[in-house]
Amino acid sequence: MFKITPMTKNILKNLITKKSTRPYPFVIREPFEESRGELYNDIDNCIFCSTCARKCPSQCITVDKEKGIWTCDPFVCVFCGTCMEACPTHCLHHKRTWRPVSGQREMIEMQGTPPKSKKKAAAKKEEASG
Ligand code: SF4
Ligand code: SF4
Repeated sequence: MFKITPMTKNILKNLITKKSTRPYPFVIREPFEESRGELYNDIDNCIFCSTCARKCPSQCITVDKEKGIWTCDPFVCVFCGTCMEACPTHCLHHKRTWRPVSGQREMIEMQGTPPKSKKKAAAKKEEASG
């Protein structure tokens, strides 16, 4: 006599019930609300104070105040959010998405306007006053 084994039962059940997994990469799940994805610097509000670089536990941020360049190595960043919380101007944000997979070690480099140095500003003021 034909006997249904537990495995056959499972196979039949799986054929008619909704899949519990997604067929990635064709169906990609929406990131969670508070996901910490790629780091982004709203560079116009950055004052190049280097607080983020000093606080970063991975030491993956470099700030060039003279040239007004802010750089982050996304291959070293652990998405901890420390820099974002420490930034005095709140210009650092985590996107909800991540960068696509890459074999190239590309940095996140953002060019802003370097702050005027006090010495240069004083020299200009002196020049203007004659
Ligand atoms: S802490 Fe904020 S303002 Fe300071 S250098 Fe970093 S991103 Fe810019
Ligand atoms: S998220 Fe964390 S590891 Fe990444 S740059 Fe900011 S402080 Fe560094």
